[in-house]
Formats: sequence, structure tokens, C-alpha cells
Amino acid sequence: MISISEHTDLTQLNSFGVTARGTRLIRFSAANELPSLREKGYFEGDWMILSGGNNILFTQDYAGTLFHPEERHIEVLSREGGSVRIKASAGVEWDDLVELTVANGWWGAENLSLIPGWVGAAPVQNIGAYGAEAKQLIESVDIYLPETGVFRTLDPRECNFGYRESIFKHELKGRAIVTAVTLRFSESPRPELGYGDLLRETEARGGVSLRNIRDAVIAIRRSKLPDPKTTGNAGSFFKNPTVERSRAEKLKAQYPDLPLYPTADPNRQKLAAGWMIERAGWKGRNLGRAGVHDRQALVLINLGGASGQEIIELARAVQHDVEALFGIRIETEVNII
Ligand SMILES: Cc1cc2nc3c(=O)[nH]c(=O)nc-3n(C[C@H](O)[C@H](O)[C@H](O)COP(=O)(O)OP(=O)(O)OC[C@H]3O[C@@H](n4cnc5c(N)ncnc54)[C@H](O)[C@@H]3O)c2cc1C
Repeated sequence: MISISEHTDLTQLNSFGVTARGTRLIRFSAANELPSLREKGYFEGDWMILSGGNNILFTQDYAGTLFHPEERHIEVLSREGGSVRIKASAGVEWDDLVELTVANGWWGAENLSLIPGWVGAAPVQNIGAYGAEAKQLIESVDIYLPETGVFRTLDPRECNFGYRESIFKHELKGRAIVTAVTLRFSESPRPELGYGDLLRETEARGGVSLRNIRDAVIAIRRSKLPDPKTTGNAGSFFKNPTVERSRAEKLKAQYPDLPLYPTADPNRQKLAAGWMIERAGWKGRNLGRAGVHDRQALVLINLGGASGQEIIELARAVQHDVEALFGIRIETEVNII
């Protein structure tokens, strides 16, 4: 089913809760409705996908057409050789999929529990948490390309997944609609507990099991991250920067408690942007109605009634001060509109 509204208030459709309007919002409930929308010319001019709105900051009204994919099917494609393949359509709530896999004893997504958002957005920034990333599970991504009207299936290599990165943020930005994702889970245990307090919190719940890991991740997240239902936010506003190993070592000599993490490239290291923001004096501080969260400095929050502009001004001030102190520009993870 397709429903079209004009001059829609987007306040409830973005987790920052900022007020903005979309010139046109098209809700569609099946990927096979996209060709008819294309024939009617709805992809001419500016358009973008708005799914759960948990990783978007509207700094102004959106003058183009917003597409809201509401298809919600989950299908088990196969179950053999110890693995389970599942196809989920773009509008499925990510955490509903995680809960389904945990309830069935399928390993792989438990560390990604409680990440807000929809399945179609998961490959866009290769969502990740607690040492796991969506790319470890993704077998293929179904897309629709409005330019040509073609449906395609991409394999993970074609998706160019990286840390909070994929082809959907670069070559295919504004050109592809993710319609479904196929993921592979394992029927045998694959706990990944090396990150932060996860092992301790899991053991405190009675030992290593899928359910205990999921519950531990949920508890840790709830203790550290603000709930967008009460405090507008989009999770981590900034990405952790990666720098040449030699540069990281110089900084470590200057700031011995600077946390460093390995990356896939042995010549580069990841720095903790949250720690840098705290060192720059911003943790718990605010600029007008926009603030830096007092438990997690990577998260910018709407203190009530902030506009997207106020939040972006705070972000710029934080970026400026971090760069002045460390000589490193921290980039935004959130999609700024
Ligand atoms: C409290 C909180 C905690 C968070 N924690 C994490 C975390 O731990 N790890 C993490 O990785 N992220 C985290 N995030 C960010 C967010 O949850 C993810 O980015 C999530 O994937 C966003 O899903 P969404 O449906 O809300 O996407 P949206 O915000 O609607 O869209 C995000 C981007 O993807 C594009 N997009 C969305 N759907 C599609 C589609 N079907 N096809 C093509 N493009 C599409 C949009 O155009 C936009 O550019 C957090 C956010 C919040 C609010």
C-alpha cells in the first residue's frame, strides 16, 4: 500500500525530535511498488529514504520527497550445515530481528541488541556495537535503483563495508534503496565478549548464553545511552577517528590514558572520540538547548526544544575544540540534512 502526504511534520519521525517538515512523504509497504512510483515521476528531483530516523539530523525542512519503507517480512531461507539464512525486508525493526534470532538459538546478532532502527538502514552504516558489525552477518543486500528502474542483489564485497561505512554512503548515496537484507546466523555458540564490561555483565547473569549476552548488552546500553523516547539523540554523533600508528603513538606519549584500539589495517589505530571530547571539556556541557551527554560524550542530546541548527552548532564547537587540542578533526556519524 502506498500513502502520500504533503508538508508532513517530521518531529515524530526523527530520534532527535527536532522540528522539520518534509515537502512530500511517501510510505510504501512493498518493494514491488517502487517501479510504479518511479513511473509516476516521484524520483525526479531530490529524494531520500527516511526509515526509523535514528541516524538523521534535520537542520532544515526537506524540500524533496522522503520515502518511508514499511515492508516488514522475515523469512527463513535455509537451515543447513549449522547455519541459518534469513531474509528480512527493509522496514523490519532491527531489534525485533535480533530478538527472533536469540529466541531461536541463532548466534551472531546478540551484541547488536537494542540498536534502534530498521533492517534496511543496517548495511548503510554497517551498524556495530560491542565488537560486532552487521557486515559479519550480511550475505547479500537487495536494492532498487530508481535511476534505471533495476532491482539488484549486492554481495558483501560490492557493499564496501568499513567502520560505519558502506557503498550506500558513497557511490550509491541517494541512488539506491535497500529493500531487503539476507543474513547468516550460526547454530553453534560464537560468543564475542572481549569488549568493555560485556563478559562481566554476562557472567553476572549466570554465564555465557545467547539470552544472557543479549540481556547484558541491553542493560549496559540502557545504563550509558539516553533513550530517544525521553531525550532526543541519534546515538554516537561522531565517529572514532583512525590515524597512522606513528601519530597515535605520539599522542599516546603526550596523553598516556588515551584509549587506542586496533583496526583491520595494522598501520592504523582507532582513537576514542568520546575520551577526546571529554578531555576537551565538553562532557555534560551544553550550548543553549543542545548538550553533550554526561555519561557518553559521543552522544549529543536535545535538552528540549532544540532545533537542528542548535545541535549542529554544538557539534561544530565540539569539533573545533577537539581539533585545537589534538590536531584531529572528528567526523560526524549522523547524516546531516
Ligand atoms: C540511542 C541510539 C543508539 C545508537 N547506537 C548505535 C550503535 O550502537 N551502533 C550503530 O551502528 N548505530 C547506532 N545508532 C544509530 C542508528 O541506530 C543506526 O544508524 C540505524 O541503522 C539507523 O536506522 P534507521 O532506520 O533509524 O535509519 P535512518 O535514520 O532513517 O536512516 C539513516 C541513513 O540511512 C539511509 N537509509 C535508511 N534506510 C535506508 C534504505 N532502506 N535504503 C537506503 N538508505 C537508507 C537514510 O537515508 C539515512 O541516510 C544509535 C542511535 C540511537 C538513537
